[in-house]
Amino acid sequence: MQAHQRALANAKLMSLWHDCDARPAQEPPLDGDERCELLIVGGGFTGLWAALQLKEQQADADIVLIEKSFIADGASGRNGGFLDASLAHGEANIALRFADEADQLASLAEQNIRELLATIERYNIDARYEKTGMTSLAMNAHSAERLHQEYLEARAAGEDAVWYDRDAARLQVNSPRVEAACWYRGGYDGVLDPARLCWGLKAVLKEQYNVRIYEGTAMLATEPVSGGGMRTRCTNGVVTSDKVLIATNGYTSPIKKVNRSTIPIWDYQIATQALTDAQFEQIAWGTQNSRHALEDYVNMFHYFRLTQDGRITWGGGGDVRYYFNRGTHDSLMDAQDRHERLAKEFFEFFPQLEGEIEFTHRWGGIIGSSTRFCMVPDTAYDGRVAWTVGYTGLGVCASRFGARIALELLGYQPSSALQLKFIAHKALPWAPEPLRWLGVKFTQYELQRADRNGGRRGLWLKLLDKLGLGFAC
Ligand SMILES: Cc1cc2nc3c(=O)[nH]c(=O)nc-3n(C[C@H](O)[C@H](O)[C@H](O)COP(=O)(O)OP(=O)(O)OC[C@H]3O[C@@H](n4cnc5c(N)ncnc54)[C@H](O)[C@@H]3O)c2cc1C
Repeated sequence: MQAHQRALANAKLMSLWHDCDARPAQEPPLDGDERCELLIVGGGFTGLWAALQLKEQQADADIVLIEKSFIADGASGRNGGFLDASLAHGEANIALRFADEADQLASLAEQNIRELLATIERYNIDARYEKTGMTSLAMNAHSAERLHQEYLEARAAGEDAVWYDRDAARLQVNSPRVEAACWYRGGYDGVLDPARLCWGLKAVLKEQYNVRIYEGTAMLATEPVSGGGMRTRCTNGVVTSDKVLIATNGYTSPIKKVNRSTIPIWDYQIATQALTDAQFEQIAWGTQNSRHALEDYVNMFHYFRLTQDGRITWGGGGDVRYYFNRGTHDSLMDAQDRHERLAKEFFEFFPQLEGEIEFTHRWGGIIGSSTRFCMVPDTAYDGRVAWTVGYTGLGVCASRFGARIALELLGYQPSSALQLKFIAHKALPWAPEPLRWLGVKFTQYELQRADRNGGRRGLWLKLLDKLGLGFAC
């Protein structure tokens, strides 16, 4: 057994965020029939934010929320906890797809993140938010050049960005792999504990707003009722409602149109035990007020951060996976080979820690990805059903806005945001199998090849870019 495998040998197969005293008791499942104004399906950020925003607008809204397992069991309780304001998966994706709406998207993004943080404060939710900004690390000379160019453009646009050359960067994060870094420290970007945020929202909905929450309750099918409304068949009962808001992200849905707009991509993470002060000294990170939220500056990027109890979580990289025919079964979380590769890469980055620390948790979760690599809102059944899904890798913050848009599409205080191309234009559906699996696999291979070539995109990626299907982050 090699050192990285030994370090992982005792890790629990469980999201770090789920392994916590704050995890609330599960609500009983639906047992019998229900009637409500709005049925929300899915107890992740989108579903919870939809319920709360509607209740704040309209206190008498009668809401039922169903979740097939438990609140925060989906991506919302398994992610990296990076709170990035972007609504459309970062500036590069916006430049590629919605350049003419960049200013409006930036101002809506700022409004959204401010309101999100104000809500956490207003309800006193212990989400462990830290305003860290976001820091990109270049791992080779080519990436350093490209990152420096991006830094200059950000400064020219008035952004509060700090450049670190190789020596300065290693004083912030002492890794032999780091060649340069750029710290975007303006705005409100940071990190938080995503499951605590979900459970805090759940408590507010239940205790202050009397939203009826049923866990262990899956939607099986939904159909329109003549004369108005929807009839939704669930495990153990039927919910009749005026409207339905689907917040099931990358999971397979009984509504075909939802399925065609996202595919489930598995993304894996590991977490270390808490580091000692001496270990923090060795890696510099976490000292001198440097608690950066980090990612490497490549297509298939790793993301890594510190927790408030002194651990490092490490995820992403080239080992994200799409499993043939929309694999979503939770057994796919147990990907020992992928977790081992993450551990190996971790020690390549921090060789000082090899043999010094163990990983305590390993897990995975489903990213719902759309063909435009950002949220896809849409409706069915004459606007009685609406959804926002497909945030790809950046949904912690964007899902609050996605929830707002799904509410607006259902007729709750519609705003001018619905006219944005970003909202109104339909995303291309994913191709059917086996083309979908082959396309994702080959594109992933090409993205990794581009990363090895200092970011230079090959013919396939250039073609996808031309067709408006390229991945940019
Ligand atoms: C490993 C990982 C790391 C990530 N890191 C980041 C990050 O650092 N920053 C960031 O911004 N984003 C990140 N993301 C993305 C982000 O977590 C998601 O975009 C966001 O949580 C989506 O929230 P959601 O509520 O739409 O979906 P989910 O949280 O997936 O919630 C959907 C819920 O619907 C339930 N459900 C599904 N089908 C049914 C049904 N038929 N009936 C009832 N319930 C159903 C599921 O059980 C689930 O709880 C990451 C994702 C993953 C997987």
